[in-house]
Amino acid sequence: MNPPDPALLAINTATLGEKRNLRREIDALRRHNIRGIAPWRDEVAETGAKDAARMIRDNGLVVTGFVRAGFFPAADRNGRRAAIDDNRRAIDDAATLGARCLVVVAGGLPAESKDLPGAREMVRDGVGEILDHARSSGVPLAIEPLHPMYCADRACVNTMKQALDLCDELAGRDGAGIGVAVDVYHLWWDPELESQIVRAGEKRLLAFHICDWLVPTTDLLLDRGMMGDGVIDIPLIRSWMEAAGYRGMHEAEIFSKNNWWKREPDEVLGMCRARHQTVC
Ligand code: ZN
Repeated sequence: MNPPDPALLAINTATLGEKRNLRREIDALRRHNIRGIAPWRDEVAETGAKDAARMIRDNGLVVTGFVRAGFFPAADRNGRRAAIDDNRRAIDDAATLGARCLVVVAGGLPAESKDLPGAREMVRDGVGEILDHARSSGVPLAIEPLHPMYCADRACVNTMKQALDLCDELAGRDGAGIGVAVDVYHLWWDPELESQIVRAGEKRLLAFHICDWLVPTTDLLLDRGMMGDGVIDIPLIRSWMEAAGYRGMHEAEIFSKNNWWKREPDEVLGMCRARHQTVC
C-alpha cells in the first residue's frame, strides 16, 4: 500500500482538545498545511455560521464534515420534535459552511426506556423527516454507525449494514443525499466491514474517520489512540474504501483526554501529519 496523498489529511477539531476555538484551530491547521477541517457545532455557534464559513473559506479549507446532528430518540413527542428542529438548524449551518456532509449520530435509548427496536424506529423516522430538507439544502446526511458500546447512550445504529439498510429504506437503493461516515474506531471489528463498504459504493461513502484502538482502552469515550498506536489495520480499511470509489479526505478524530489533549496542538498536528504518511 502506497502512503496516502498528504493533501488528503483533515482534522476533526475535537482532536485538539476540549476547549475549542475555531480561529485558533484554523491558524494551527495552516501552520501544518492541513487542508481539511471538521468543526463542531458549539464552536461554529460561537462565531455564527456565516463568519465561520468566511474564516474557513479565506483559509482555503475544505469542511469534510459538520459535527454533528442526530440524537433522534426521545421519551415524548415534544422531545422528538425538538430533535427534528435542531437537526434542521444543523443542516442550515452545514449548508452555510459548504460542508461535504453533516455527520448524523443516531442517539441511544430514551430515558428510562429498554425498547431498543422502538429507539431504532425513532431514528428511522427522524432521519426520514429531515432528508428532504437536507437534499434541498445540498447537504448529504452521513449516518455514522458507532461501536456497540455506545448503543444505550449515543447511537443505536452500530454497524455499516444497519446504516446502509436505513439509507436504502429511506432513499431507495440508489437514492442520493444520504450515506455513511466510516470511522475505523467504530467499525474495525466488524467481520462484514469489507463487504458492506463494497455495498456502500462511492455514492454512500461520505467520510472516512481515522484514529486507533488502544489495548487496553481505559475510557469508553476519551481514550482513542493516535494512528499507529493501536491494533487497527488502517491501510487495509483505506484500501477497501478506495476500491469502492471513495476519493474524499482522511479525517483524524482522536478524543484523548489523558494523552493527546494534554499536548500542544502543534505537536498533535505534527504527529497526525507524520502518522498519516507512515501508518495510514
Ligand atoms: Zn467519527
